[in-house]
Amino acid sequence: MMYTSTRDTSVSVSAAKAVIDGIAADGGLYVPKSLPSVDYRSMLGLDYAARVEKVLSAFFDFDVKGIADKAYSSFDSGDPAPVVKLDDKLYMLELWHGKTCAFKDMALSVLPHLLAAAKKAEGDSRETLVLVATSGDTGKAALEGFRDVDGVKVCVFYPTDGVSKVQKLSMQTQDGDNVYSVGIKGNFDEAQSAVKRAFRDEQLIGALAEKNIVMSSANSINIGRLVPQIAYYFSAYCDLVDSDEITAGSKVDFVVPTGNFGNILAGYYARAMGVPINRLVCASNKNNVLTDFIETGTYDINREFFKTLSPSMDILVSSNLERLLFEVSGHDGEAVGAYMTKLTDKGRYDVSPEVIDKIRTIFACGYADDDDCLEAIAEAFDEYGYVLDPHTAAAYSVAESRELSYPTVIASTASPFKFAPAVLTALDEKVGEVTAKTLGLLSDITALDVPVQLAEVFTKPLRFTEIIDKDEILDFIARKFGE
Ligand SMILES: *Cc1c(COP(=O)(O)O)cnc(C)c1O
Repeated sequence: MMYTSTRDTSVSVSAAKAVIDGIAADGGLYVPKSLPSVDYRSMLGLDYAARVEKVLSAFFDFDVKGIADKAYSSFDSGDPAPVVKLDDKLYMLELWHGKTCAFKDMALSVLPHLLAAAKKAEGDSRETLVLVATSGDTGKAALEGFRDVDGVKVCVFYPTDGVSKVQKLSMQTQDGDNVYSVGIKGNFDEAQSAVKRAFRDEQLIGALAEKNIVMSSANSINIGRLVPQIAYYFSAYCDLVDSDEITAGSKVDFVVPTGNFGNILAGYYARAMGVPINRLVCASNKNNVLTDFIETGTYDINREFFKTLSPSMDILVSSNLERLLFEVSGHDGEAVGAYMTKLTDKGRYDVSPEVIDKIRTIFACGYADDDDCLEAIAEAFDEYGYVLDPHTAAAYSVAESRELSYPTVIASTASPFKFAPAVLTALDEKVGEVTAKTLGLLSDITALDVPVQLAEVFTKPLRFTEIIDKDEILDFIARKFGE
């Protein structure tokens, strides 16, 4: 299986190189030249890790055996991605049973193993510096996934005023000898674009090369992050068939709380590979760039950036939309490159009517502001005794506003404890300063256990408290790793 760039289809690299590099040299994202075929029926009755292994082997031609087993052994329950039934039409796909209680663990538990296997396949003995821009959850999951992995250092940049208290503490107290986290004065988009620039900065590349270090990405711009996520769409569908909720071949909808468009893009790939998905519903928060795009065909980031109760979705530049545009434009790298240049220069682009029509046959969209999310949390608890985190609540709210013509699976992307203050507010509790007690209160009300890994962030020593300006990111990397 060979990979190419979304901006230039003359690019051709091995799967291993695509994972090692993280992003193509022309600034485009690596994509498979053609989608492999995997029959979901071959996964019926299998456990989650076995399903993941099938997906990994279809996309990567290097040795991926045993990776999924290793990756998911750190999850807290027997099933890393259980489907929970709310009623005959509504199901929750819980993706937060990993070490950091958010769906990023689904892929970031796999990526370090994939990277190691890819380096082995390429005979690449350089040290890897994994750079991560995060709106909160990716950073922690990457720190945890890569901690103390040989031959890797990981450095995370998060908006110091744009993440939840638990998210921030969990990154500041991270264990491991090869990890760094840094707060930046700026938002996620600015962190992400600085990190993307770092990959193309000749001077930085040279300085690191002298120390035998090469940069890579753990953001969903890395195809190695995206592919493991495809598996849970297969798995959720097979679970519904295995438990006789649906018959094989009948269609379902997925509603996905969306930020960088990585999670839902994995759903697109699963659908294109034959999982019977009717619509993928893209749920946004008040930063509803994607809703507007799907409705109008214009992607426009010239708008106010809102900080919301769902910080991991506070994103205006959804990187992975680029991969979707590549697919729906019939692999037109030139057109995609032109859209992205317009986005950089003007902050907006319009896609052709054919492209947006195609997108609308596959995707639906909607958004929920903070009030809608709080309402959704209260309603789901009232009606089903089910506790939503504020990101999942955005998806729930959008699902509720639709006529559910198909069984609908909501991707549940974080443990409610990770965002306890918002959840408590929704349940009419007063929230003061956030402490371990805040999590305890949520536990009392919901009769759910506080995840240990979240409770402990309040007592562990702070290791990383540096804050830098968004414009200092490249200098910081050079200073810290290149000297
Ligand atoms: C990252 C994240 C999202 C958004 O996922 P994307 O792949 O960026 O679209 C939604 N919810 C939570 C809890 C997240 O951590």
